[in-house]
Amino acid sequence: MSLGLLEVGKDPMGAAIYDFFDKGKAGKLRVFSPQFDEDEIPVETLFREYDEMPELERKALDMAYGRILDVGAGSGCHSIALQDMGKQVEAIDISPLSVKVMEESGVNASLVNLFDHSFVGGYDTILMLMNGSGIIGSLQNMEAFFTRMKELLNPGGCVLMDSSDLKYLFEDEDGSMLIDLAADYYGEIEFSMQYKQIKGDPFKWLYIDYETLNFYASQFGFKAELVCAGEHYDYLAKLTMTV
Ligand code: SAH
Repeated sequence: MSLGLLEVGKDPMGAAIYDFFDKGKAGKLRVFSPQFDEDEIPVETLFREYDEMPELERKALDMAYGRILDVGAGSGCHSIALQDMGKQVEAIDISPLSVKVMEESGVNASLVNLFDHSFVGGYDTILMLMNGSGIIGSLQNMEAFFTRMKELLNPGGCVLMDSSDLKYLFEDEDGSMLIDLAADYYGEIEFSMQYKQIKGDPFKWLYIDYETLNFYASQFGFKAELVCAGEHYDYLAKLTMTV
């Protein structure tokens, strides 16, 4: 197996995406985390069209230019919207069923892990959307992430990524923070998913506040800009190479 791809039998989100694409409806896509109560991702939202997307995502699609890479593209909703705008986009995902759906929808999609060095670039815009920072997994992986971005970006190119600051989840009613500074960063969340009988392995998903992102970007040769802030601690950032 190539680096870090999902097996079909352990790809609940891909199975949900495939069902929805195939039948126009899907069951519950359940999300578990030791840090939170059980939750659910409404599968139809993974097929959102441009008009249904949050403003941060629409802004990212409007800004994307040149040769675009949609990372962790899922159903391919952003790639399809970009194609409709006449833009040139390629999509990657580690989910075989998602890639299959994208191919059947006419998206130029590949089954590739972002961190697989055999995948080479030449992109002007790298899009990471729907808390796109999640794919980085942890702060410890930040250096590897920026190294990959340097490998994949053309000179002058940029990464457009959305994320959110989970600080509000740990705030006391009086506004004081309940964060244990000795513990892992509060935005490193462990999740697992289930769709019907298909259970995925647990994975780490990184939510990063803008200040921390800005700090790591400058450490690893990038400039961060806050493009816009959303309604609930979420934001869109633009990362460009400085060296
Ligand atoms: N961007 C899509 C899907 C978000 S869900 C949307 O906004 O609707 C996150 C997606 O990232 C999943 O499809 C998952 O399979 C994929 N993914 C997770 N880790 C990845 C990695 N290392 N490389 C490429 N894709 C990854």
